[in-house]
Amino acid sequence: MAQAVRTTCAYCGVGCGIRATVTGEREVRIEGDPDHPANRGKLCSKGTHLGETVGLEGRLLHPMIGLKRASWDKALNLVAKKFRDTIAQHGPGSVAFYVSGQLLTEDYYVANKLMKGFIGTANIDTNSRLCMSSAVAGHTRAFGEDVVPANYDDLDAADLIVLVGSNTAWCHPIVYQRIRARCEAGAKLVVIDPRRTETAEEADLHLAIRPGSDVTLMNGLLAWCREAGVIDQAYLDAHVATPDGFWDGIGEGSDLWSVARTCDVAPSDLRRFYEMFAATPRTVTMFSQGINQSLTGTDQVNAIINVHLATGRIGKPGAAPFSITGQPNAMGGREVGGLASMLASHMDFSPESRERVQRFWASPAMAEKPGLKAVDLFRAIDEGRIKALWVMATNPAVSMPDAGRVREALAACPFVVVSDVMASTDTGAFAHVRLPAAAWAEKDGTVTNSDRTISRQRAIFPLPGEAKPDWWIVKEVGRRMGWKTAFTYDRAAEVWREHARLSTYQNDGARLFALPGAGAGGNAAYDEMTPFRWGGDRPFADGRYSTPDGRARLVPVAQKPLQAPLARWPLTLNTGRYRDQWHTMTRTGLSPKLARHREEPLVEVHPDDADELGMSDGGLARVETPQGDSIYRVLLTNAQRRGEIFTPIHWTDRTSSGGRTGLLPRPLTDPFSGQPGFKLTPARLDPV
Ligand code: SF4
Repeated sequence: MAQAVRTTCAYCGVGCGIRATVTGEREVRIEGDPDHPANRGKLCSKGTHLGETVGLEGRLLHPMIGLKRASWDKALNLVAKKFRDTIAQHGPGSVAFYVSGQLLTEDYYVANKLMKGFIGTANIDTNSRLCMSSAVAGHTRAFGEDVVPANYDDLDAADLIVLVGSNTAWCHPIVYQRIRARCEAGAKLVVIDPRRTETAEEADLHLAIRPGSDVTLMNGLLAWCREAGVIDQAYLDAHVATPDGFWDGIGEGSDLWSVARTCDVAPSDLRRFYEMFAATPRTVTMFSQGINQSLTGTDQVNAIINVHLATGRIGKPGAAPFSITGQPNAMGGREVGGLASMLASHMDFSPESRERVQRFWASPAMAEKPGLKAVDLFRAIDEGRIKALWVMATNPAVSMPDAGRVREALAACPFVVVSDVMASTDTGAFAHVRLPAAAWAEKDGTVTNSDRTISRQRAIFPLPGEAKPDWWIVKEVGRRMGWKTAFTYDRAAEVWREHARLSTYQNDGARLFALPGAGAGGNAAYDEMTPFRWGGDRPFADGRYSTPDGRARLVPVAQKPLQAPLARWPLTLNTGRYRDQWHTMTRTGLSPKLARHREEPLVEVHPDDADELGMSDGGLARVETPQGDSIYRVLLTNAQRRGEIFTPIHWTDRTSSGGRTGLLPRPLTDPFSGQPGFKLTPARLDPV
C-alpha cells in the first residue's frame, strides 16, 4: 500500500495538515494529519473533498501562445523578450506582476526577487491585498513589524473570545471547532458582525453593529476599560508609547449611550460586552475580512490592538489581538515581500533595508520605492501606464472590485501573461501567453498559516503534461532576461535555503522575522521538514517590539462619518464567502459534493425590505451599484439587518449567467493599506 504523503490543505489560512494516500491514477485518499498543530487530524468539508479536485479535467497542460500550443522555449523566450522590450522602451515601471496567496513561499520569493531586485520596480502586488493588507498595516503601525502576536493555542487558554467581522464557522471551520471546544469548557464567545451568521447564532452575545462603526465600538470599549480601572498602566509605562492627547481623543463620543446609538445596538447588549471584556484578562480578539476589507480597515485594526495594548492583554497565554488570514499562504507572501509595499523578510523601503537586500541578491537594479497596490495597479493598466502584465495563480477579472473595468483594462493591455492551473479562466481569456502551472497535488514548497506555522506542501502526483512549478517558470524568464547567475535554482529546496539565509542576513535582531537554522541540513532536511512556528509561541512576550525604541504604539484612531443611505442607492451591499466554495470556484467547482451546500448565488435580504420592494423568497432580483449590476435569486432572512443585503463572491461568467459580485464594489481603498472596501457598497435592489 502506498505511503501517506504529509502535506497542507490548499484552501484557507487555518493551514490544516493532510495525509494524502494515492489510491489510483490521479486518485487520492485525504485524511487530517493528527500530528499537525493547526488541526490535530480534523478537516472541514473543503479539505475533506480535496480528492475530488485533483483530476486533469480542464487543466492547462501545455504553454499556449494565443490559441496555439507552443514549446516552453518559445513561450518563455517570448515572455522574456516582451518584458525586456517594454522595459527598454518605457522603463521598469511599465511592467507588473499580479500574484496570489495561493502561491507557495518559494514561488513568491522568486517572483519578488525578479521584480524588485532585477527588473527594478516594486510593481508586484498580490490578491492578498484584497484579504489582509489592513492587518499588515495595522501591525506595522502598532508593533513596528507585521507580526501576528498570537497562536492557536491561545484560543485554548482564553476565557473570552471575541470574533470581529468573521464568520469563522464557515470561513475558518477548524479554528471555529477549537473555539467551540473552548466554549464547552466554559469560555464565552462574543461575535461582532452586522449579519447573524452561523457563527453569531452560537455566540453568548451577538452585536449586529451598523457596518463601518467598529472604531466607535472599540474606542468605546477602551474608554469603558479606563473607567473600570483595567488599563494596565505599568505595561503602558514600560512597553508602549502613548502619543500626547491620545486619551482625550478616546473620550469623545465614547459614552455607552453615544456608542450604542452610532453602532445601532441595544445599550444593554453593549454594556454586557464591555463588562465581559473588562472582567476577563484572558481575552483573544480575532478579526478577519469584516475588519480588513474596509475603507477604514487599518484604523479598525489599530482600534482593536489599542485595547489589547492598553489592557496589557498581549504576549500572554490566552490574551492577544489575532488577525486570521483568508488564504493558505498570505502569510508566506508577507514574509518574502509579496506585497508592493514591502521588501523581502519583513523589510521596508528604507535606504538601509534596500541596501541590505541589494547586497544579498547582488542586485543590479533594486526597486527604489513601493510599487502600485492592486487597485492602483489595474488602474495604471487601464490608463496605459502598465504595458506588460503577468498574472500568476489568480483571477482578477472576477475578484477585483469593479471587475468590469478590470476586464476592459486587461483587454487593452498590450501584453498579458497568465500562469494558471486551468485552461479556461476569466482572466486567461485576455492572455497573449498562457503558461501551465503545477497544481496543489503536484507542488513542492512551504506555506505559512495564520499563527505563523510554516508547513510543507508536498507533491502527491507527478507533474502532468508539461506543467511546471511557478518558481521554475519565473526563474526561467529571469534567466532569459539576462540574469543567469541569480536564477539557478533546480528545486524548491534551494529557493527555501536562500529565503532562510536572507531572513537572518545582517538582521540585527530588531526584526522578529528570522529563520535561523531553517536553511541547514540540505535537501534532506527540507524533504523531512515538520511544521514549525517562527517568532516563538508568543512574540512580544518580553514586551519588546520591533520599533526603533522597542516600544509598541497606541495609534489614535477616530470614527469616520458613516454614510447615510442615498435616494438612488438606499441599501448597503456586503459581500463574502460561502462555507463550501473557495474564491472563483476553479477548484471547489469541480466537487459535486461541495456544490450541494449552496447551488447558486443568492442575494440575502431582510423580509421587510423585500416586502417594500415587492419581492418574494426564491424570486429573481437585480443588485445594482454605481459600478455595475448582476442578477441573483432572493433569499429572505432575518439574519440581515434592514437596509443591508449580502451576496457571495464565487460565481463567474464561466459558472453562472448572474451572481457576478465582482462587478459591484467600488474600486476605493483604505489610505494606509490600499485594501478595497468590499463590505459597504451603496446599492439598490429591484425585482426582475
Ligand atoms: Fe482546509 Fe481551511 Fe478547512 Fe483546514 S479549515 S481543511 S485549511 S479549508
